[in-house]
Amino acid sequence: MTRLLVLPGDGIGPEITASTTAVVRAATGGSVTFDEMAIGEASLAASGSTLPDAVMAAVPQADGVILGPVSHYTYPAGQPNPSAALRTGFQLYANVRPCRSREGLSILRQPMDLVIVRENTEGFYADRSMYAGPGEFMPDADSAFSIRKITALASRRVARAACEIAAARSGKLTVVHKANVLKLTDGLFLREVRAVAAEFPTVTLDEVIVDAAAALLVRDPARFDVIVTTNMFGDILSDEASELSGSLGLGGSINAGDDICVAQAQHGSAPDIAGKGVANPTSLILSAAMLLDWLGRRKSDAALADAATRIERAVDRVLDDPQMRTRDVGGPLGTDAFAQAVVGAL
Ligand code: NAD
Repeated sequence: MTRLLVLPGDGIGPEITASTTAVVRAATGGSVTFDEMAIGEASLAASGSTLPDAVMAAVPQADGVILGPVSHYTYPAGQPNPSAALRTGFQLYANVRPCRSREGLSILRQPMDLVIVRENTEGFYADRSMYAGPGEFMPDADSAFSIRKITALASRRVARAACEIAAARSGKLTVVHKANVLKLTDGLFLREVRAVAAEFPTVTLDEVIVDAAAALLVRDPARFDVIVTTNMFGDILSDEASELSGSLGLGGSINAGDDICVAQAQHGSAPDIAGKGVANPTSLILSAAMLLDWLGRRKSDAALADAATRIERAVDRVLDDPQMRTRDVGGPLGTDAFAQAVVGAL
């Protein structure tokens, strides 16, 4: 039996997590159970915190976590961002984001089929670059500073995760950086990625500066297979790639550490459409499939890996039909109807 912890989150989170658990239940035939706990605005109202201690205690007890998006931008000052707290608290250092274009859904002239592996625990994020205190500060009212933290340890471990993914695909890995300007921080990242890649005989490494990478994703997406990059570059490039592949609502994503994996949609809590039943649940459904695949490999459980493959195929089959798509990708279906179509395709 596999036990998943479900944290619905804010905005469209409850709607898309309900769709996702329905699909996972159908694909796994009852071999997965779900424990649900409140985070975000729901737990703030109930217990005074956007991330109760009981949730942090429950995460390592579960086999994996399905995390809905959170509206942390509008949380009261001092309330934790559950997404960042899980990433740093459990050292979920690799944010793995596949982006694959689908016929009739993408504006690209060439097909895209790539995986972005983004460092997840440091970089230019004020809530994860310091041991104590925020990584942003204002010495006076008209000057503001951000600290960008890059370490050899974090660079090495995300490079290793990316090399393993590249070795299992075409063997082609691209490191995206800005070492021409950020000579010390991105220079260190580049040094560590080169050293780790050299340990993988079937992996060839090429190097692209981030601004060129942003353009090449549009002009020549087929030149990329696996990309490894630092936190903020990966955040921005993966949204770009996901939207180019069809919609921000389409790409799956996991946050993976050595022992814990959290499935999390690529997009945010979409407060503009929350509660309307129109959100596209594909991103979280595919994220959950990636979690099942991650678990299947770790537990040598072929049934979980098989369920992951079947969910991906069922989503593809449904999305192939323009009449079976949600509104963001030009279709007529609501969130529940789309999820039921995926269950039907399974
Ligand atoms: P967003 O990703 O929530 O929304 C951007 C646009 O995409 C909106 O128009 C939204 O309606 C649309 N969209 C997003 N997901 C969709 C889906 N599944 N189906 C259909 N349309 C979808 O980004 P935002 O508006 O900049 O941020 C809203 C909140 O989400 C903020 O509080 C932000 O901090 C938070 N956020 C959370 C995460 C996370 O939890 N991982 C990530 C990004 C942003």
